[in-house]
Amino acid sequence: MMRLPEFRYRAPRTIADAAKWLAEDPANAMLIAGGTDLLPNMKRRQHTPSTVIGLRGIGELTAITDNSSLTIGAGVTLASLAGDPRVRSRYAGLQQAAAQVATPHLRNMATLGGNLCLDTRCTYYDQTFEWRKAINFCMKKDGDTCWVATSSDKCLAVSSTDTAPVLVAFGATLTLVSAQGTRQIAASELFANDGMHYLTRRPDEILTSIALPAGEGWRSAYWKLRRRGSFDFPVAAAAIVARFDGNRVIEARVALGAVASQPLVAEKAMSLLNGQALTDEVIEAAAEAAGAIAKPMDNTDYELVWRKRMVRTLVANGLKDVRGDDMRHARLRLSRGLVS
Ligand SMILES: Cc1cc2nc3c(=O)[nH]c(=O)nc-3n(C[C@H](O)[C@H](O)[C@H](O)COP(=O)(O)OP(=O)(O)OC[C@H]3O[C@@H](n4cnc5c(N)ncnc54)[C@H](O)[C@@H]3O)c2cc1C
Ligand code: SF4
Repeated sequence: MMRLPEFRYRAPRTIADAAKWLAEDPANAMLIAGGTDLLPNMKRRQHTPSTVIGLRGIGELTAITDNSSLTIGAGVTLASLAGDPRVRSRYAGLQQAAAQVATPHLRNMATLGGNLCLDTRCTYYDQTFEWRKAINFCMKKDGDTCWVATSSDKCLAVSSTDTAPVLVAFGATLTLVSAQGTRQIAASELFANDGMHYLTRRPDEILTSIALPAGEGWRSAYWKLRRRGSFDFPVAAAAIVARFDGNRVIEARVALGAVASQPLVAEKAMSLLNGQALTDEVIEAAAEAAGAIAKPMDNTDYELVWRKRMVRTLVANGLKDVRGDDMRHARLRLSRGLVS
């Protein structure tokens, strides 16, 4: 059995207290929300904070406010999010992403804030301490070499959060609070394409809320590739958000997940969609353009060439979804791994 390392636990009741305590020693303290990512990582000694600051006692973080747009507290669980009728009707892609994270048990504990701040993943990193020690560790923790690309001076671990691509595509705004004040950034600005330094959040900052723009008039979808349809992290994913006039696209946004160390915005695919009728030909061209920017590495499940090819399928399926096609059969096939 893997045991947690020793740490001091602090349980603030307000965001202000949490920010004050975090500011005391940000380099050696970590926040914990649901703990579904942090605790396994601590058991594997990927993280060894001397202080852990629990966010679960802070009521302010669990509110969802609705003023035509939704502002979601970072402490809202993924189960609550996936079950919220406002999210389901106005932000379907976010509902689909939240509902596909891990398992029901984990979604009951897991929070939206924790999902956005999820550690990047890699076959050589998500292993026990002894396993990692046997390969002399790797650059991301305790070692010098990247075993995925030995000449790389940068860690290439994979951004594996399901909700981030959707929030990037929706253009959500995040609020970060520290003892020094509050700042707001676009969801896309939270992430950096570096497996070690994958967040631009400062160590003394707490992600407190996620504000979505008004969802009326937008259609959205999230498509995820994973081995087991009821359990696994994404190994490729596509989030689509679009507004239509009849079947003509007024504006579309496409973001890819799990094919880099951050969610990727597929700019060329978006420009091919905007102003066009969403025909099969337009979908194919946009899916091809989106697939071209995906650069998966050989450090997670499935063979990388197939993962890259599947990005096209995920984007095409997402576009057909927002077009209004009946995609239930395609979703079922994907969840059972029956796609080539
Ligand atoms: C078996 C298994 C399967 C999983 N499958 C998936 C999957 O399919 N898709 C997926 O996306 N994830 C998956 N996960 C990972 C995890 O369960 C989710 O990402 C979850 O949403 C993390 O949220 P949490 O509240 O538990 O985060 P925690 O574990 O509490 O925290 C995660 C990280 O975020 C930081 N953090 C938490 N809250 C804040 C905040 N408010 N401000 C700043 N930093 C914060 C923590 O310090 C930590 O670094 C899986 C985990 C397991 C164990
Ligand atoms: S990509 Fe390289 S440095 Fe990063 S976790 Fe994997 S092996 Fe380590």
